Amino acid sequence: MSDSLDSRQLDRYSRQLMIDGFDESDQRTLLSSRVLVVGAGGLGSAAIQYLAAAGVGTIGIVDEGRVKRSNLQRQIVHGVDDIGEPKVDSAARFVDALNPDVTVEKHPVRVTSETVESLLEGYDAVVDALDNFPARFLVNDAARLAGIPFVHGAVYGFEGQMMAFRPGGPCYRCLLPAAPDDDAIPSGEPMGIFPTLPGTIGCLQATETLKHCLEVGEVLDDRLLRYDASDATFTRTPLERRPECPVCGPDGITAVDDVDYDDRCRISE
Ligand SMILES: [Zn+2]
Repeated sequence: MSDSLDSRQLDRYSRQLMIDGFDESDQRTLLSSRVLVVGAGGLGSAAIQYLAAAGVGTIGIVDEGRVKRSNLQRQIVHGVDDIGEPKVDSAARFVDALNPDVTVEKHPVRVTSETVESLLEGYDAVVDALDNFPARFLVNDAARLAGIPFVHGAVYGFEGQMMAFRPGGPCYRCLLPAAPDDDAIPSGEPMGIFPTLPGTIGCLQATETLKHCLEVGEVLDDRLLRYDASDATFTRTPLERRPECPVCGPDGITAVDDVDYDDRCRISE
């Protein structure tokens, strides 16, 4: 990558270059940043769109699924012509059309304890745009071990939540040590989602990811943000590290593939 922005880039990014405290070197930082988005569904669509539009130079996209008609109500990087296509291909076409400065790295694979560490390798941050607990725990664990932020987001019905879990602060397992009962919160099953909700939460995830990459503002890494779309309320709840956390605690795990995960993602010795 060249050291200075060309005239097309100066024009393209002019509105963010006008922000106080944001200059060409910040844009070059974004262009050399590498962000992995795990999940190309509703949350992923919103995060991918804004990360790409902002000029994050490399976006990895992990998704093993194909586009279904029922996705289109909220997964806005996919269209009718993409039905049946791999989501990573559809999302990559969207990014290519939006911003030629962005390189997409496609990972059409399942997140497992065997794949997760190599998937995260070389990325500066990972966006949790997943819809199931086992993969979410695995990515949290691997991200913490890799020393990169795990920018969590989740949606259900009218409600969503997000937080950037960064090394030094609490991790996702400090919030939720293991998956709740399936009948409490469905995981990986089709569920009702208000169409704009993943857009709101995914956009917040993109915002916190950009702030982390740019080292600007106060990244939301010490409290959980909850959003209830039904009455338009945001609440922020402080979260601290748990000393007994099996991942970020003093006796935490040292490698994901050394861990015995049970079906509820508890970590057994
Ligand atoms: Zn923890």
